[in-house]
Amino acid sequence: MSPALPLDHAARLQRVRLSLDGLSVGDALGQRFFGKETLVVSAIERRVLPEPPWTYTDDTEMALALVEVLSLHGHLDQDALAASFARRYRANPSRGYGGGAHTLLRQLTLGERWQDAAPALFEGQGSFGNGGAMRVAPLGAYFSDDTPTLVAQARASAQVTHAHPDGQAGAVAIALAAAFFWNHRDRPASSLGEPLLRFVLDHTPPSATRDGIERALSLHVSGGSLQQAIETLGTGYQVSSADTVPFCLFCIARHPGSFEDAFWSTVSGLGDRDTTCAIVGGVVALHGEARIPPGWLASREPLSYLDLHRPGLLRS
Ligand SMILES: [Mg+2]
Repeated sequence: MSPALPLDHAARLQRVRLSLDGLSVGDALGQRFFGKETLVVSAIERRVLPEPPWTYTDDTEMALALVEVLSLHGHLDQDALAASFARRYRANPSRGYGGGAHTLLRQLTLGERWQDAAPALFEGQGSFGNGGAMRVAPLGAYFSDDTPTLVAQARASAQVTHAHPDGQAGAVAIALAAAFFWNHRDRPASSLGEPLLRFVLDHTPPSATRDGIERALSLHVSGGSLQQAIETLGTGYQVSSADTVPFCLFCIARHPGSFEDAFWSTVSGLGDRDTTCAIVGGVVALHGEARIPPGWLASREPLSYLDLHRPGLLRS
């Protein structure tokens, strides 16, 4: 039996949706900047938007699963999350899942337990990929008023697919960033970069990802350039948490008050650009100054909020 939903459940879900919109716009738009590098770099420099519709990928699909679970249970029920991942994967396995995710999700659709399947990935190491971080910002928005609960719930959300502690640390870090942005949404965004990185560091467990966040903080306070961040932090080419999350946090700290500037900086890192832009979008959208451009929202493939409340009606 699930505990009762919190009294302010509806208000929590409102900020969850804001984060989900930022995440999915970042994901869907970032995905459109894969291709021949010279063309992509030129389009990014000129800020050329692709023709709609912008189709979202696995980042959004898995975030929708997470939001569905929070919406129904008011907390992160791991079995419900695994079931939602599997149901969505079965409905549409072509959302750009990575190799490890395909293996795991296929096993879940065949009835294996996540507790057995996730730790077996990557020869028994478990995944330390960026998949726990890419979907978690809405959860940070939901639990923004309670840091210990947020940390535990973010870790639990990652654990279903990412048994390696570093994959879980990345999820904790991004959930913390989302909560920080919501809690400081009325403060001038320009003052938030360094406090954000320090707050995240204070509560992220020791890990390669946390080490990278420390480097991101040093770079931020010393006025390091975006190019230095790209070269020293990584931009997700290895699709690991440690080479994705620190760069995302650097971009968030650099452009806390502009969804557009944050997006263009993040995508210019190339790398795992649907995921880096999903992470950054899901956090930055929570600040009062960082509105998602309405035209960008309209260009993104629609998300059916009906799906969040009517699991029986889930569509792919
Ligand atoms: Mg993706």
